[in-house]
Amino acid sequence: MPRSLRRSVIGWYALLACVAFAGFGVLLNLRVRSALFGRAEASIEGHARAIAATVEFDLLSGWEVGLGEGYLQGIASEGWYEVLDPKGRMLLRGGTLPGALSSEATGLLREADVREFVLGGPGQIRVRVGRSVAREVREARELFLLTLGSGVALLLLLLLGGWWITTRTLQPIRTMSATAGRISASDLASRVDAEAVPQELRDLALTLNDTFDRLERAFQGQVRFTGDVSHELRTPLAVIRTQVEQALRRERSGPEYRQALHACLRSVDRMTRLVEQMLAFARLERSGAPPAANGVALDEIARDSVEEVLETAATAGVTVHVRAAPACVLGDALRLRAVTSNLLSNAVRYNRPGGRVDVLVEREGTQVVLSVADDGIGIGPEALPHIFERFYQVDAARTSAGGGAGLGLALVQRIVLDHGGTVVAESRPGEGSVFTVRLPALPNAAPDPGANHGSPDRPPASAGPAGPPRA
Ligand code: ADP
Repeated sequence: MPRSLRRSVIGWYALLACVAFAGFGVLLNLRVRSALFGRAEASIEGHARAIAATVEFDLLSGWEVGLGEGYLQGIASEGWYEVLDPKGRMLLRGGTLPGALSSEATGLLREADVREFVLGGPGQIRVRVGRSVAREVREARELFLLTLGSGVALLLLLLLGGWWITTRTLQPIRTMSATAGRISASDLASRVDAEAVPQELRDLALTLNDTFDRLERAFQGQVRFTGDVSHELRTPLAVIRTQVEQALRRERSGPEYRQALHACLRSVDRMTRLVEQMLAFARLERSGAPPAANGVALDEIARDSVEEVLETAATAGVTVHVRAAPACVLGDALRLRAVTSNLLSNAVRYNRPGGRVDVLVEREGTQVVLSVADDGIGIGPEALPHIFERFYQVDAARTSAGGGAGLGLALVQRIVLDHGGTVVAESRPGEGSVFTVRLPALPNAAPDPGANHGSPDRPPASAGPAGPPRA
């Protein structure tokens, strides 16, 4: 059974109250008992000493007690007194004696409800004064029962009070858990009213709301993602369907069939690219941040990516120039290669014939900077803040030809962030764009030779232009 917060609060509360009240009750009872019995004992001792002080021996009349009759009657009305001569003969006696006196005992004698004081007087006479303390015993017992009763009553009151207080205190937590329970896939908008909960729980409420916000964003992102993917797949599928239907409508010539098949192939390429990018995302999401164990030479990765893009660039009439100084970062070479190749293929794709792409890798203090600049078509200020969003395309018409699905830059940003870096885009429509990636530099470390998945024996690319694009 799980531990009950309410039971433990009340339990501790009651235990502390019991200890405090028991301590107080014991002290009170001891104090009152000692006052009650102390007064009775002091009184009989005082009487015994007063009697002893007046006992004298007279040659004619023998032993005499000089105290007045009234005083002795006063003692007898409360208890008893007795004076014995040195031979043990009774000289004087008053009140109701409880029994014979032991010959040895002197001083204060205590029995259950009797107190007696025995004093040796002059010439070995013995004075005995006593009284019943039944009244004091009764009063002490009454006080004991009163403290015990009020202790039990107080404990019950504390238990009830504790129950009520914990119920009130736990109410906001119950409200929060009810809200959390209400939040489901169909209602992600509910939030805990952080203003209505006590100050001590406000942080918890804010944290919960923050979690709900993230949950809602993640869920909406998933819904949007599914919608976007369906949308992206619908267009190439529709193209394929139309092409196939038209081709099948009647007998076609060889070139017509080829043209239809080429159109289908382009659509299949587009879908393949989309599926590959989605797979890359899924892998990133599954594996989380990369293990920052390998030193990766970003300059070599950049040169590799440039080499890969040279042919496409040449076809598009774009020249690519690279200036890469040795610069190492900690991370995953495969993922970092996806960054450089996505930025480069965009720079070539969204360019114009005769355009130019400049790739720069250099170390700046504790950072490695990779920038990919082009003088292509650029991006308008209204689109620039959105280009890193998944499936965002500035203009679907201008990108569909190249087969993009609006996932490339989202992938780039995700990888860079996972590596503890930043990526920024600057652009002017008609003038070109610059994408700048900053990653934490690996201080004084040689890269893992196998980490780049390139050819380790290749000499470092020389600074300056990568040369004219290969046709
Ligand atoms: P896509 O795969 O469609 O290219 P990206 O996420 O790579 O998707 O890019 C998002 C959008 O940003 C593209 O639709 C494109 O219009 C724009 N874009 C990206 N890079 C550049 C660039 N270098 N020049 C101009 N526009 C660019």
